[in-house]
Amino acid sequence: MIADNLARFLPELRPEARRVVEGEGFLSGRRKGGLPMLRVVGGWCVFFHRGCVLHKVGAAEGDAYRYKPAACALFPLARRANGDWYVRQWGVEGEDWDLFCLDPAASPRPAAESLAEEIALAARFTAEEAGGKPGGAVENACPPLQDTGESLLTGGRARG
Ligand code: SF4
Repeated sequence: MIADNLARFLPELRPEARRVVEGEGFLSGRRKGGLPMLRVVGGWCVFFHRGCVLHKVGAAEGDAYRYKPAACALFPLARRANGDWYVRQWGVEGEDWDLFCLDPAASPRPAAESLAEEIALAARFTAEEAGGKPGGAVENACPPLQDTGESLLTGGRARG
């Protein structure tokens, strides 16, 4: 999806990121959790330019999640090996990112409320998978959007 629509994103990228994407592609060649990773230029994902370019272009076309990798769009939701969704956060599933937003004590709001949009998107992805359409296929590479956790079923908190 990203490759097929790259021409839409290139004009919106940081100049240094655009040079790298045009010369070497947007994937780094590394993998995480079995998924390919986006390149990073200057410490930021190549698609980061005053926010996520993939998000902005999609939103302008009427669907903010049209181009955004699933791992980015769903953050901080993630999946266990058995397919169950959970909220990434400190102390859950071996979470190794120490971001403030992944501290379950950082906000009194329940995840079901603060992550309502992401939960709805997860349900959409699950439904699409059931219908034979895979979700995202690229791992998150956005420095401020790295990881969290807790089962949605336990009503955990993450992110205010
Ligand atoms: S890591 Fe994901 S959310 Fe962040 S800029 Fe890149 S594509 Fe967008």
